[in-house]
Amino acid sequence: MDCLFCSIIKGDIPSTKVYEDETVYAFKDINPMAPVHILIVPKQHISSINDVTEENSAVISHIYEVAAMLAKELGISESGYRVVSNCGADGGQTVFHLHFHILGGKKLNVTMC
Ligand code: AMP
Ligand code: ZN
Repeated sequence: MDCLFCSIIKGDIPSTKVYEDETVYAFKDINPMAPVHILIVPKQHISSINDVTEENSAVISHIYEVAAMLAKELGISESGYRVVSNCGADGGQTVFHLHFHILGGKKLNVTMC
């Protein structure tokens, strides 16, 4: 399967890694929308939130644990940040490997849609 984030996780496409463990990989977004813009992705290919099930959902809670840990490490846990996962065309998803954006380091726009 041709998947950009699977290739990044494998190391076939370069990325700026900020964290990695057995189940997740985190790296800097190539087109940052905020001073801190990290993507956290499961190593297992899950296309989007639509494919989260009872069998694979443990990785989601782990992603939030990693988000909290990285926010602290990157100095945005007190100032605040946003965790976003776009799903499908209307949600603005462009890469169909589930990912969570961590955005912070500035006062973010409050517009939700
Ligand atoms: P989304 O639009 O929610 O699917 O988010 C996809 C994100 O992946 C966008 O914010 C892109 O800037 C980011 N992106 C695309 N290609 C790369 C890459 N090679 N390395 C890092 N981030 C990327
Ligand atoms: Zn993938």
